[in-house]
Amino acid sequence: MELLPLKSLNLKDKKVFIRCDFNVPMDEFGNISDDRRIRSAVATINYCLDQDCAVILASHLGRPKGQAIERYSLAPIARRLQQVLKRHVELTTDVVGVDAMKKAKELPRHEVLLIENLRYEVGETNNDEELSKKLASMAEFYINDAFGVSHRAHSSVDGITKFFDDSHKAAGFLLQREINFFTKLINQPVRPFAAIVGGSKVSGKLEALVNLLPKVDKIFIGGGMAFTFLKQMGYNIGASLVEDDLLEEAQKIMDEAKKLGVKFYLPVDVIVAEKFASDAVSKIVTAQEIPDNWMGLDIGPATVILYREGLSDVQTILWNGPMGVYEMDKFARGSSKIAHAVADSYATTVIGGGDTADLVQRIGLDEEISFISTGGGASLELLEGKLLPGVAPLLIKKG
Ligand code: AMP
Repeated sequence: MELLPLKSLNLKDKKVFIRCDFNVPMDEFGNISDDRRIRSAVATINYCLDQDCAVILASHLGRPKGQAIERYSLAPIARRLQQVLKRHVELTTDVVGVDAMKKAKELPRHEVLLIENLRYEVGETNNDEELSKKLASMAEFYINDAFGVSHRAHSSVDGITKFFDDSHKAAGFLLQREINFFTKLINQPVRPFAAIVGGSKVSGKLEALVNLLPKVDKIFIGGGMAFTFLKQMGYNIGASLVEDDLLEEAQKIMDEAKKLGVKFYLPVDVIVAEKFASDAVSKIVTAQEIPDNWMGLDIGPATVILYREGLSDVQTILWNGPMGVYEMDKFARGSSKIAHAVADSYATTVIGGGDTADLVQRIGLDEEISFISTGGGASLELLEGKLLPGVAPLLIKKG
């Protein structure tokens, strides 16, 4: 998969529009808790500034659903960007209104303008053509560096590309790096190749699981999704998260794993609690002995030992999704122990973005991981073998 390269554009003294992914996690005080996505965008931004460009940046943050809600303003992003870039970043007060259009038009070279939250406009997620056209009119060049949203056919990711020909658009360095990495991972993984898959639901990762099966040698399941499998195996799962309509699918996945010779690991013990709360009474039970009305909120210590053992001989590890409700200290231990096992491993280790990246960063193990992707959903869709809507228009056309 070859993408239109940023370096082949004739950017000298021009105005560029860079779609970034500044959708960073915030803590309860509204502070940015992981600015990896901001730092990852710097290479492309600085390259454009070095080409004497006027740089327009755009991103979404959260889900304001077409409303200009202050809580979702990019103001904290602008402040952090200023620190990281060590230069002034001007934030617009609207997306394609009078302020943004005027500031974009008058933006001098070497200056950086940040457009307010793209999702203040309802057209962004609808891939609205009018919105794409207005955004495209701001600049002479379009660069997509937002790997984290490249699996979304949105106005600033997909629709906008129609307004630029191949010599006026390209993939930024971050997008390029992520695509290269995952393409190599899928096509030539060093074996044994293990996937650790967690998170809340099977439904969100069902397709990924199905598509990963023929590619990996081992799969380790954790998080809420484990209980759908455990229930299908005939265990009592109490009040744990379960997707009853996917029980049959869960069986199919286990059958397919068996057929392909993929070692399929499920938790052998869990931390159960009386309610979904950080102050809940909790205890460790085996998977066979989950009491009625108790819910499993983390993997237990025996599972950690088992998974650590299973991971000890692998050469490549891909991890997507926490092993438990890691946001609550009480149920973060399983994820934390697995994070240490992954970090200590001599394998090539890959974290598939989102919650897992956040948790590894919180524990301070991010430096020990070979590759932390900025896109959870996007990396999963890539692994599923899909052509992402934000990537397709940037492919070099052959012949
Ligand atoms: P996902 O977005 O599907 O990757 O899921 C991430 C979320 O799954 C995190 O917010 C976790 O708190 C949650 N989670 C993990 N394990 C469990 C569990 N056993 N029960 C309920 N939620 C869980």
